[in-house]
This record gives sequence, structure tokens and C-alpha cells, in this order.
Amino acid sequence: MTRAAETSGSLLCFDVDRVREDFPVLHQKIRDRDLVYLDNAATTQKPQTVIDAISRYYGQQNANIHRGVHYLSQEATFAYERARARIRLFLNAAANAEIIFVRGTTEGINLVAHSYGGSNLKENDEIVISHTEHHSNIIPWQLLCARTGAILRVVPVDDDGQFLLEEYAALLNDRTRIVAVAHASNALGTINPVREIARLAHDRGAVVVVDGAQGVPHLPVDVRDLDCDFYAFSGHKVFGPTGVGILYGRKSLIDAMPPYEGGGSMIKTVSFEETTYADLPAKFEAGTPHIAGGIALESAIDYVTALGPERIAAYETTLLEYAIDLLSEIDGLRLIGAAPKRDRIGDRVGVISFVMEAAHPHDIGTILDTEGVAVRAGHHCAQPAMARFGVPATVRASLAFYNTHEEIDALAAGLRKVNEVFGG
Ligand code: PLP
Repeated sequence: MTRAAETSGSLLCFDVDRVREDFPVLHQKIRDRDLVYLDNAATTQKPQTVIDAISRYYGQQNANIHRGVHYLSQEATFAYERARARIRLFLNAAANAEIIFVRGTTEGINLVAHSYGGSNLKENDEIVISHTEHHSNIIPWQLLCARTGAILRVVPVDDDGQFLLEEYAALLNDRTRIVAVAHASNALGTINPVREIARLAHDRGAVVVVDGAQGVPHLPVDVRDLDCDFYAFSGHKVFGPTGVGILYGRKSLIDAMPPYEGGGSMIKTVSFEETTYADLPAKFEAGTPHIAGGIALESAIDYVTALGPERIAAYETTLLEYAIDLLSEIDGLRLIGAAPKRDRIGDRVGVISFVMEAAHPHDIGTILDTEGVAVRAGHHCAQPAMARFGVPATVRASLAFYNTHEEIDALAAGLRKVNEVFGG
């Protein structure tokens, strides 16, 4: 079957109107216009099942976990641990012990930098990242370099925002200890060749950290197939709550790593002379976690799984193609990143970054807002990526599976209005 046939086949049963019914926030007027929510890379909207899971936890189940003998505590513990097991299946990790609840992608990456980096790196060791990383996948490594004397190396991207594998291979050497890359760029949408990146890193004995913040919402993710050592993502970007996320860590590595934070729940025994630590994953989960968040994240993952990550990717690709066609026709609009390469459209998630001759991105964002269209304008926490493309900021429209072709029409109409207002 051709890719196109597969796509249309898998789209036959994708009923976007039905899907939208599950997202209450989408059904409102903003400034007297139907809300068009195209800021999904910043955060996604929540289906009713996720909202219900949070409300059910606080309304019926609320108790602290892992420590109570009473009924409610055991119920809450059961629900939280069931969520962990569900997320393990979703990522195809080998064991529940490899699934660590964190606050989000940012905390996941900081955990690896502190715990793995702090105990394994020394002066002149090297850490490799790419030019288009989110600040969350830059600054933890800079801080680690400052603490250890390690050196940060940056893989360039081409004019389409594509990761340059040959340059990457040439940067690797026997001092490379960590390679940290985004699964997909939040600024450009480019999907990085993680499997190949991991293979080359492992050949050099380096570990691979994947920032999956923009991967999990748009792509099927299998950590064993990617063969990464760590994979971090945020609940709120995958239709779940804020304040909760996941760090997957390869068991052989996290077993040997020291705790990141100390406190309750992460110990076996404590005395003033000596403390011993809990088994995985508790060793990395000090203090009371976001219990409602973890439980509701399971509902979000169930929702995405029921829709099917492959169908989501296929549907979003049709939206992306449509959007690129429409936006390419707008006077003075320049797409930033991989946009012009039609043959590589399957290599992108639904993120479209652009600038316009007529107006600054912030003014464009403001005009679109008056039309009810929510986009992001700014550097998207990726200032080096902006610098690479010679712009201080872009407008970013980012898609989710509940967006429609009509909403892309509304975006294009808003952008034509920008040209009218600013005389472009
Ligand atoms: N990495 C990428 C690629 C992102 O898009 C984001 C958020 O925009 C992050 C990391 C940080 O995610 P969080 O703020 O949820 O920790």
C-alpha cells in the first residue's frame, strides 16, 4: 500500500467534529468570534475525560499515596500506579520502574543533567545538542558544563531546519558523554532522526536524552525502537494536566544514578549516620507528587491511544499541507524552517513558523487575536533557533488533531487582514 493510500485509509474513520465535542474549551466565542486555537505547541486543550479524572480524584479519591493503610490512600495509590503502568505501555518501556513522574519535560531533563551528568561527567567531556533546541534542552546542559567543566557542542541545521547528520557524526568523539536532542522542534516542527542519532551516539559510548515535549503529542513513540536512554515529555502538551510529566530512563542507567532530590518517599531507611534509598522509580520521586495529575495523565494517554497516534499524525499532516499551501499564497509571508520542502512534509509535526513583511510577529498575533485566532508570537524559548534563521521572533501556528481545515481558513483570512491593516 502506498503512503497516501495508508493515510487516506487511516483517515476514513477520523471524525474531527466528533472529536471536538470532547473538548469543552473549544466551544466558546473569543471577542465574538469562534475560538480558533492554534497554540498547541505551548499547551493543548483537555478532553472531558481528563477534566473528569481530576474532578473525580478530588471529589472522591483524594488521599496521599504510598504511605496510608486506609482505604482512600490505597485507592489513590492504585490509581497512580496504574497510570504509571499505562504510560509504560504507551512508550513501550521495558518496566514500570523506568517511568518516573516529574513536573514536566523541563524537570525531566534537569534530573538527567544533575543526576546522570553530575555523577558521570568531568572536565573536557562533551555534551552534544542541536541548534534548534528549546531552552529546556540547552540551559540544563550549560549549567552542567559550568559545574563540571564539560564542553557543549552544537550540531548545525540546514536552511530547512533539518538536523545535519554528517556534521553530527563528525562532532562525536571519545569524549562525547551525552547527546540531547528534541524529538521534534517546537519552533519549526522538524522531526529529528532520533534513531540514527542514538545509533551514532551509542557507537561512541554516549547516552541519548530525547526531549519528547513535541514528540508524544504528534507521533507514535516507542522508546525501545528509538533506542534512546532517556525520554522526557510534559502532560499538558499531550492533552493532560499541567504540572505533571514523565521521564523514561533506561533501567541499567537510572539504577546506578544518585537521587536528584531528597525527601519523603525516596528512602528505605534514614538515620543521621546513613540513609539508604528506595528502589526505582521511588528513588527519583521525593515528596508528594501531583497525584491528580498523574491519574489524569492516564486518561489523556487513553484518549490519544483510542484515537491512534498513527491516525493523529496522518490527519495532522493533511492539515499541515493545507496550511502550508494557503499561507504560501499570502503576500509578504515567509515560512521559516522546513516549510518549503513538500517532499519532506512527513518529516514534520504540525508547527508552522513564519514572519511577514508587513508587521512584527507580536502585531500579527494581536490582529489574529481580534479574529479569535490564538497563535504564539515570539522566540518560542528557542532563541538560538531564531538567530539561526536571522529573525528575533516568528509567528507560530501549531496544530492538534482537533483543529479543522476551516480553522486554517480563518488563520489565512486573519493574515490577509494583517496585510490590509498594515498595508502589506
Ligand atoms: N521542549 C520542547 C521542545 C518544548 O516545546 C517545551 C515547551 O514548550 C519544553 C521542552 C518545555 O516543556 P515544559 O515547560 O512543559 O517543561
